[in-house]
Formats: sequence, structure tokens, C-alpha cells
Amino acid sequence: NLTKSYASGKTGLWGRPAGPVRALDDVSLDVRAGETLGLVGESGSGKSTLGRSIVRLDGVDEGRILFQGVDIARLSGRQISPYRRRMQMIFQDTSSSLNPRRRIGDLLAEPLRAHGWDESAARRQRVGELMEIVGLQDAFSQRWPHELSGGQRQRIGIARALALKPDLIIADEPVSALDVSVQAQIVNLFADLRRQFGMTMIFVSHDLSVVRQISDRVAVMYLGSIVECGTTDRLFASPAHPYTQALLSSVPVASIDPGKRRQRIILTGEVSRDAGGGCKFHKRCAFARGVCRDEQPPLARRGDGSQVACHFPLMP
Ligand code: SF4
Ligand code: MG
Repeated sequence: NLTKSYASGKTGLWGRPAGPVRALDDVSLDVRAGETLGLVGESGSGKSTLGRSIVRLDGVDEGRILFQGVDIARLSGRQISPYRRRMQMIFQDTSSSLNPRRRIGDLLAEPLRAHGWDESAARRQRVGELMEIVGLQDAFSQRWPHELSGGQRQRIGIARALALKPDLIIADEPVSALDVSVQAQIVNLFADLRRQFGMTMIFVSHDLSVVRQISDRVAVMYLGSIVECGTTDRLFASPAHPYTQALLSSVPVASIDPGKRRQRIILTGEVSRDAGGGCKFHKRCAFARGVCRDEQPPLARRGDGSQVACHFPLMP
């Protein structure tokens, strides 16, 4: 039930300040050990905020974050520090997440040193292992971040996140800034790592075809709420929420199973966070009825274990 608001900074009607924006609106989500959960939605849907909140880079106003049974949502700086090592984040923009004044080898050794790897020989060996894991030659450890390509830098970002063998990785749009051909290589690397290490990951992306390749389950966000969550196969084969259906129909046809071409759904209508107590999607939804305007549909669990927040979910 994570909830988080921030001041919108915008001006509302008649020049009065607009109300706070609910970046996270009663969001509930679970991630199981060893799985990759894809988190998709358009920009501004709250995906990054949710990811950053889970690892406590951002705070929340309300709700709990249960990490292996412990609520870490309100732990203080000192109390949170053992959890920091166990949850790592991979960012989209490696040019700001990797310190440009450190050589690659030092960048990878830094988290090790900070967490008790006192012997430099042991650190060097682990750095070598990490470079191998992400498919870079040892010689790269002497280079500077600016000497690497975007794809190579993201490999370093991944190696850095893996350094301390975290229990949870949150990758926030890790391939979105890369060229398409490089994207495929990095997605393959994630797929390999998942097989090799059985890592637990939340993979945040606005790109459905990427999420589909890598996720066991997928959660779809719309304006700060999760509207649907289910296994990747089910969700792509028969989306239950009208918004998920519209998102999927906007994926280029080539990446959808041949023979299952969907009619493209063009979303119209106003994107409005102020749903007046009803479904946030109702002004854009082709299936909306009276109740949708008045009552916000809860995220309800269905027989197959998936969840959907809609008064009239689509049937397969
Ligand atoms: Fe559409 Fe109503 Fe479902 Fe909202 S609750 S997605 S408006 S059918
Ligand atoms: Mg984002």
C-alpha cells in the first residue's frame, strides 16, 4: 500500500496552485525470490518512483516495504545500511551513475571496499570475476568511463550492482538509452545472468517487447497505480485490463506473435489524475460504464493468481 505525493509545481485553474500529485497511489506488489518482474507503463506512471522507493532512495508517505519479512520503509540511516548492500539499482544513465574520475577497476572495487573486502588481492580477483561475468576483458579495468561505449558502460553498471551478490536488483530502464542493436546484447546479458545466478529482479521499462523477453511476470502501471499484474505469457496473450490491451496494441506488429495481430487501439481522451473517485482510465476507456466514473476498481486477485483493477475485465 505504498503512497507518495509531491507538489506538482504546476498552476491549476484560475492561477491557484494545483494540488499535490500522487506519484504512488496505494501501490501493492510482490516480487518472489528468483523471479524477474517487469514493471511497465508510460513515462510519468510512477515506475521509477516505485523502484527507487523500494530500495529507499526515495521515501514514501504511507505503506510498508517488506524485505524478507522486515518492514524497511521507515528504518533510519544506520538501520537501513545492512539492507543497502542487499538491494542494488541499475540506472539508465551510466554517464551520471559512474564516477567519471575513477578507473573502471576502481569503480568496481569501491563497493567491495565499503563492505569489508579489506584485502586488495581479493578485491582485484572479484573485479576480474565481475568483468568476466558481464563479458568484458580484464584490460578494461584500467580504462576510464568516457573511453567506453554506452553498452560497455552499462555492463560496468551491471557488474557494479552484482559485486556484493545482492538479493534484489532493480534495473530502471537499463537499455532505454542504448542503440537498438546494443539493447539486444544487454537484454541477452540480463537473460544469461538470470539463468546463471537465479537473481531476483524488478526490470523497469516502457518498452513492452524488452520486458516480454526478460520477465516471468509483468505489472502494468497507470498514473501511480498498478492496473494489472500477471505472468508474462498470460498478460501478453490475453490482457485483462483495457489499458494493458491498448498498450499492447501499440507495440509494433512484428514483435507480436504472427497470426495474433491485434487491431491497433488509439488512446484518446484526457490523461487525468483527478478521476473524481472513479477509475483513472475511464475518460479514455472504450468499455467504461457508469460505475467506472464513480467507483475506483480495486486491484482484485483472480482465479489464476493474476490481479486486475477493472470493473469489467476483458475475458480471454
Ligand atoms: Fe475501463 Fe471501467 Fe475497467 Fe476503468 S474500470 S478500465 S473505465 S472498464
Ligand atoms: Mg522512469
